[in-house]
Amino acid sequence: MKNLILLGAPGSGKGTQAAKLVKEKKYTHISTGNLLREEIAKKTELGNKVKSVMDAGNLVSDDLVVELLKSNLDFASSKFIFDGYPRNLEQAKTLSEILGSNPAVAIHFQLNTEQLVERLCNRRVSPDGKHIYNLLTNPPKKEGICDVTGEPLVHRDDDQEDVVRSRMEVFEDTIHPVLDYYKSKGMLESVNAEQGMEKVYEDLLGKIN
Ligand code: AMP
Repeated sequence: MKNLILLGAPGSGKGTQAAKLVKEKKYTHISTGNLLREEIAKKTELGNKVKSVMDAGNLVSDDLVVELLKSNLDFASSKFIFDGYPRNLEQAKTLSEILGSNPAVAIHFQLNTEQLVERLCNRRVSPDGKHIYNLLTNPPKKEGICDVTGEPLVHRDDDQEDVVRSRMEVFEDTIHPVLDYYKSKGMLESVNAEQGMEKVYEDLLGKIN
């Protein structure tokens, strides 16, 4: 199986599909957003530096993200899912260098903006961001509590509607060169991410096997 590069706006379902692939296909999930949030929670120097940038829905500098990314990779031991990286053309080129001869496919999750805003405003996550719920379509069994960890669920600060709208703009401004880049390398596939979770997963498997 190839390494997977998931490209899609916040809320397009990348994290949900990644969690399923980790469970069923033994991938290792690398979400740069989760790694950054862990740094913030641990109050590291890096975490303190990026907090205000992330709270405003803007992108953290490429250098900081790539260091964090590299320290979490080992291609000899696993296949990886890249979620939230790359976010711009520079990062896409850097990722090609990091991957070297390791095979990878980029999957574009396609979904319209209003549906994304609704999804994010209704999204709740476990404190580590690994278990994802939607109050309307995939609620937890017990209100406000993660089914897996038993911890209270979190509504991320950057999932509030005004920040969500700026994150969408940032995404739209930067993703097109990334899609063109992977298309020109013959590495781009897409899935219709407006479908239900199970159907998206089935389509995804069809692209990676
Ligand atoms: P996410 O969880 O992927 O929606 O990311 C949340 C926030 O983390 C983003 O709005 C950015 O501030 C930051 N972030 C995550 N990944 C990256 C990246 N590859 N480059 C720059 N900033 C990032």
